[in-house]
Amino acid sequence: MQDKLIDIKNEAVAQILAAKDARELEDIRVEYLGKSAGKLTLLIKKLPGLPPEEKAIVGQFANEVKQTIEETLQAQKKAIQKEKEANIAETEKIDVTLPAVFPPEGHLHPITKTLKEVYEVFKFMGYQMITGPEIETDEYNFTRVNMPKDAPSRDAQASFYLDTRNSKIYPGEYLLRTQTSNMQSRALERIRPPFRVFSPGKCFRVDDVDASHGFEFWQFEGILIDKNITVTNLLGTLDFILKSLLPGTEVRFKSGHFGFTEPSIEAMIRCTICGGRGCPYCKNLGWSEILGSGMTHPNVYKAAGIDPRGWTGFAFGMGLSRLALLKNQIDDLRVLTNSDLRILKQF
Ligand SMILES: [Zn+2]
Repeated sequence: MQDKLIDIKNEAVAQILAAKDARELEDIRVEYLGKSAGKLTLLIKKLPGLPPEEKAIVGQFANEVKQTIEETLQAQKKAIQKEKEANIAETEKIDVTLPAVFPPEGHLHPITKTLKEVYEVFKFMGYQMITGPEIETDEYNFTRVNMPKDAPSRDAQASFYLDTRNSKIYPGEYLLRTQTSNMQSRALERIRPPFRVFSPGKCFRVDDVDASHGFEFWQFEGILIDKNITVTNLLGTLDFILKSLLPGTEVRFKSGHFGFTEPSIEAMIRCTICGGRGCPYCKNLGWSEILGSGMTHPNVYKAAGIDPRGWTGFAFGMGLSRLALLKNQIDDLRVLTNSDLRILKQF
């Protein structure tokens, strides 16, 4: 009987020391010490059948075996736990000498960058920035800037009118603004003259999309209202803005026609493609039109409820998208509305 106990002890201890995790240890415990069918338990159950003198000695030995198995189980359990903790510490150890991993960094869109430059130039001249609605009424977009319903100049700005069926809104009352000039009347209403403001934003016109046309583009409008303002002030302002935004450019003015200004003036810059020699882009003129401007028409003041005899001023509108193309040497307007990161990363 004692030999059997020794075998069980050796067998159990060997298995315990080879165990790799807590579950294995539990299986071993059940195998030897399990209440109903444990190998040691079954042997101990036979003790009462032994002769009295043998019973005491074997009984004590059996207890020692049981104790040894239990202690070895406990010790191995601790050892496995310790090893596990050491492994975790090893994998989580930080090597401070390794080069850092930087998250990928984005950058500003060409339009945003250009807008920031425009903002700085206007800030320098003491202009405030204002913004207005992209969904505009026909009245603010056209009528109030001296483009009444029958004005031929409206034809040049084919518009996206909102579908107002099933509503009480009169058809043709709301549209996506075709120009930032809608801000002229809104500024006159909102701010008491004298003032100087500029207003950038998106505009929309019905157009076939190609390299130089899109249905969505950015513009900015400059508006100045004060006393004794003359065309000379306007020309000086435009010259300063264009030369600040496009360093090294040459500027030229010619007369134009816009409903909301009288007289109207167009600014031209030396063609950036051919440098003035003449090319298809500038229609062989060597110059390309960059903005429209003029002295604010008295009807615009009247539409906003201001007496035109008291005030003089000017307004001008320029393509911000166009400016972004010129500044970044991009020859296709569609690049600016493209979401392909491989293209945008170049700027
Ligand atoms: Zn040219």
